[in-house]
Amino acid sequence: MKPNMHYADLKDSYLFYHIAQKTKAYLDGHPGAHLYRMGIGDVSLPLCDAVIRALHEAVDDQADPGRFHGYMPECGAPFLRKAIADQYRSRGVMLEDDEVFVSSGASDELGDILDLFDRSATALIMEPAYPAYVDANVMAGRKIVHLPSGKENGFLPGPDDGSRADILYICSPNNPTGAVFGRDQLKRWVDFANENGSVILFDAAYEAFIEDPSLPHSIYEIEGADSCAIEICSLSKTAGFTGTRLGYTVIRKALVRNGMSLNDMWVRNRTTKTNGVSYIIQKGGAAVFTEEGRRQIMENIRFYKENAKILMEALDRIGLWYCGGKNAPYIWLKCPDGMGSWDFFDLLLHEIQVVGTPGEGFGKCGEGYFRFSTFGNREDTAEAARRLEKLLGHC
Ligand code: PLP
Repeated sequence: MKPNMHYADLKDSYLFYHIAQKTKAYLDGHPGAHLYRMGIGDVSLPLCDAVIRALHEAVDDQADPGRFHGYMPECGAPFLRKAIADQYRSRGVMLEDDEVFVSSGASDELGDILDLFDRSATALIMEPAYPAYVDANVMAGRKIVHLPSGKENGFLPGPDDGSRADILYICSPNNPTGAVFGRDQLKRWVDFANENGSVILFDAAYEAFIEDPSLPHSIYEIEGADSCAIEICSLSKTAGFTGTRLGYTVIRKALVRNGMSLNDMWVRNRTTKTNGVSYIIQKGGAAVFTEEGRRQIMENIRFYKENAKILMEALDRIGLWYCGGKNAPYIWLKCPDGMGSWDFFDLLLHEIQVVGTPGEGFGKCGEGYFRFSTFGNREDTAEAARRLEKLLGHC
């Protein structure tokens, strides 16, 4: 048996594994030390009341012969597909319910969705990028076109001659930079995809963090996107489902390539490769889309935004360049004095016990940058901000 040899092309260590190794080594040498963890983007607040109540009710349903649910429809429970489509419709995006597919999270979908594309399809990845985009394509043996971005274009690259590829990844709000594409900038990508027959994979995992009303939450707010884009969303950060696992994917019926409907293909894929997401979790998820649920998740998001504000004010006083934080839960900063990302990581870990994420882990052009997550608890975030200011003073 010959295994998939493309796995040998993967970079040997995943970013967060490397960080875990370094922090473990520090703790082994400093037993009992407290670390201020601003690295991995996991949430710290519990699920909101409306979700918890719905989960409990759904558990009780499963104990009642009259209300029990076995296998769920592979593409999602009709009540949840409708609730999600209703939210889009309330924003003027006229989706049909069966253009929404319920998933167990964006990571799963970002990997699985590649089944829709021919093996020879090339993938364009705008960097710095969420590392799973690259790895999923390396595993599939796909040619990757790296499109670097930087301070000069606000980490929001546009299409140009170097951008030709079959699959175009766009993550907005972006992990790690927190940059968000404006309507005109997205329109250029949509036009480019339609002209070239490419498909955009639009990762909207952080759309709920957008507060600037001029910025689009969904690529389908852009004219022409119906025929060139797939949108992948998650309740992980929107509603604290990182451990509960729920997401959704939108594929419009207008998305057709070589006479094949990608919506039909995805129905076929899901009905073959999954048996749906559990009834209990989908019931919990549907509560996010009620008025009460929406209000409660926005309170949690406001809490994380306050963390972002504390950190941004400290960075302002220090005088370090950064972006993000306002419409996204990540702050992306330039390391001081031309330091490398991993040197800055070591400095913060050893001098002030603050753990962030080195920008280099998100692609070569991330070297010299650093990411803070704002999902931590308030005390640790405030203390990390104080320690940063004390260590770095005024740059
Ligand atoms: N997409 C981006 C940009 C992310 O940052 C993450 C998680 O951090 C995901 C997708 C994965 O989300 P999920 O928890 O739904 O798998």
